[in-house]
Amino acid sequence: MTDLSDLYQQIIVEHNRSPRNFKRLDDATRTAAGDNPLCGDKITLYVKLDGDVISDIGFQGSGCAISQSSASLMTGAVKGKTVVEAERLFHSFHAMVTDAHAMTDPMSLGKLAAFAGVRQFPSRVKCANLAWHTLHAALAAAAEPVSTE
Ligand code: ZN
Repeated sequence: MTDLSDLYQQIIVEHNRSPRNFKRLDDATRTAAGDNPLCGDKITLYVKLDGDVISDIGFQGSGCAISQSSASLMTGAVKGKTVVEAERLFHSFHAMVTDAHAMTDPMSLGKLAAFAGVRQFPSRVKCANLAWHTLHAALAAAAEPVSTE
């Protein structure tokens, strides 16, 4: 398990250092802002929907390594997916980081499984979930800013 934990740690560190899709989309069809005041994490998400497919996605933000690497990995995971597929991933990810008895097989989540360990640290769960809740809000076109509180 140590090797796997090290690998997961590396994924998080690497995505925090050079986040993917860290950009503002000028032609975004949906945007949402997320805030995790407990840790000071902030994310603005830009989603370009082409029909019901997420054809492009970008984010800008600041905060801890968990929140920013999670946003990086989330954007990579849902790009090219349909809204329904992205929502399914959101629920799988949410279950993985919050429910020890979740039926989600972490391996089915690929690199997103790097965050399975945050379940042991309740304060970090909000950091890992922030990008996903913000995505959920963007896809639902919620008008209110997202807060993890
Ligand atoms: Zn955080």
